[in-house]
Amino acid sequence: MSGPTVPASRAPVAEPDLLIVGGGPAGLATAIAARQGGLSATVLDRSRPPIDKPCGEGLMPAGVGKLEALGVRLPEAVGRAFRGIRYRDGDLVAEAEFPGAAGLGVRRTALHAALVRRAEEVEVDLSWGTAVRGLASGGVATDRGLVTGRWLVGADGLNSPVRRWSGLDAPPGRHRRFGVRRHYRRAPWTDKVEVWWADGVEAYVTPVAAREVGVALLWSGDKSRFDLLLARFPALAERLAGAEVSSRDKGAGPLHHRPRRVWCDRLLLVGDAAGYVDAITGEGLDLAFHQALALVEAVRRDDPRHYARFCRRLARLPFALIHLLLFVERRPALRRRLIRTLADEPRLFERLLAIHARDRPPRSLGLDGAWHLARGLVRP
Ligand SMILES: Cc1cc2nc3c(=O)[nH]c(=O)nc-3n(C[C@H](O)[C@H](O)[C@H](O)COP(=O)(O)OP(=O)(O)OC[C@H]3O[C@@H](n4cnc5c(N)ncnc54)[C@H](O)[C@@H]3O)c2cc1C
Repeated sequence: MSGPTVPASRAPVAEPDLLIVGGGPAGLATAIAARQGGLSATVLDRSRPPIDKPCGEGLMPAGVGKLEALGVRLPEAVGRAFRGIRYRDGDLVAEAEFPGAAGLGVRRTALHAALVRRAEEVEVDLSWGTAVRGLASGGVATDRGLVTGRWLVGADGLNSPVRRWSGLDAPPGRHRRFGVRRHYRRAPWTDKVEVWWADGVEAYVTPVAAREVGVALLWSGDKSRFDLLLARFPALAERLAGAEVSSRDKGAGPLHHRPRRVWCDRLLLVGDAAGYVDAITGEGLDLAFHQALALVEAVRRDDPRHYARFCRRLARLPFALIHLLLFVERRPALRRRLIRTLADEPRLFERLLAIHARDRPPRSLGLDGAWHLARGLVRP
């Protein structure tokens, strides 16, 4: 077999249990989980670490827990805990804190470096700078030859070529949404992720270090540029004025991509490749880490249906929330009513955030919570 170059210190894995295309967070988490579960794993990625990517860089509390379960450790000075979410819409401000553990704001490059370190520690076979060109019998064709594996995993992101090649692609969503991110060298002004709302565009401000904040802008419509979009938030632009820009703008989109299924034969999809609707709830990483552990469990049981069921269950709540938020995002009056309700009823916001953070089940919203929410949305 002609395969990719691997570090000289380690022999290539002849036929790994998992052959993973994509060494982003989802692919690396899957490979680490596989090794922890006694399986061998090879990761192929066309880029080289640490890999950067457009992302809001806020990891929800449950995702932080999964990172710990994978044995991924971030150096003490890296990242910044965030304790909740603050919505801002003009003069309206609504905020709530997580009931339990905090989330983590962390630069993608730092997160990626920590995942790579852990993957090396558990002896994942890592092959950077290897572009996958197509599916082949028992594996994939790469620019370095054929590589095979017992199971093939597509962890190759939003526009997943593996999903396309395997015929699992579904038509993209009708609503076109895009994202772009930039970093500023300045101290965070809050220990919450701030979401600033304007008509058709949202700005996510995440503290990522003692002296750095990330700003991710999400919008509907056509392609645009960071500065044009930021100008829609004069108060935020003023706060950032004068701060040194510490990264190059990186954009992504259209964001909505869902597969018909997350598996076929001995091929499984994970992370954004397994379906991405929108970044509006900021939990793509969290979902990817949950999926990674479930995927390995399914491979160990030789039962991909188990994984498909897990993915459906896992996605139910986030997708419902995403659709709700996108619905109000397109209706400014409704959006402002929602934020006013959350501002007036902080306990209700806390309950919703606890559900979003998977700390409480959806039923904990209760009839009274649903009633208050509905009343807030219809009142003039
Ligand atoms: C603007 C924006 C803001 C976001 N904000 C948040 C947030 O605050 N919190 C959060 O949790 N999530 C957020 N997300 C989502 C999050 O970034 C993704 O869910 C996450 O990056 C998914 O990781 P992944 O490993 O599936 O994909 P990726 O990180 O895209 O990794 C895919 C990898 O596959 C490799 N690859 C692709 N094709 C090939 C090929 N042919 N051959 C070899 N390698 C290949 C790529 O090089 C890449 O390294 C945001 C997304 C966007 C766009």
